Amino acid sequence: MSSNPGLLYVVCGPSGVGKTSLVRALVERRPALSLSVSYTTRAPRAGEQDGVAYHFVTAGRFAAMQAAGEFLEHAQVFDHHYGTSAPAVAQALQGGRSVVLEIDWQGARQARARLPGCVTVMVLPPSVAVLRERLGGRGDDPALIERRMRDALAELGHWPEFDYVVVNDRFESALDDLCAITRAAERARERQRTWVATQLPELSPG
Ligand code: 5GP
Repeated sequence: MSSNPGLLYVVCGPSGVGKTSLVRALVERRPALSLSVSYTTRAPRAGEQDGVAYHFVTAGRFAAMQAAGEFLEHAQVFDHHYGTSAPAVAQALQGGRSVVLEIDWQGARQARARLPGCVTVMVLPPSVAVLRERLGGRGDDPALIERRMRDALAELGHWPEFDYVVVNDRFESALDDLCAITRAAERARERQRTWVATQLPELSPG
């Protein structure tokens, strides 16, 4: 057991890059991590349960939460508002649980400013051609696909701001990368100080 607070992981990437499947698989493989459930003003899509995919709230409730400073970060993405609950994240971290946020680049910037120790990851597609294929595979009209491409490339353009960059070419290997990043962050020297001091006191300066 360690008395360290949990770590905050921020995973970004546009739709079509596979980040939702990756973060779900990450928290399944590493049960010590939990996925934060965001608040949003957008309507639920088919199969999305309130409190699981998102907390679905009205624009009024969102604005009230924002005014009360209840968001660790929040952003307008396309036509809707999205935000991460600050108290929920703080409670998990203080209880020693690590939390994964799946948010956009604007939110990542705010998270970094508020919690500089957070670990940020951008997920990239292996190529623009593959991204276009993933975004256009639904028989949609070309103008819509081009708009999605523009939005996706704008998000991806922020990759230099991130600590780690994972290319989702093969799902399993991208997942291995995410697991490795989280494991390495947990093994950082500063996080091992408490363990060394209690378990190997002989190594502590006298
Ligand atoms: P969707 O509506 O397709 O579920 O998500 C649209 C975008 O909003 C995605 O890029 C997703 O990462 C982002 N998003 C979801 N939740 C949050 C949040 O709490 N904060 C921010 N900043 N972005 C979010």
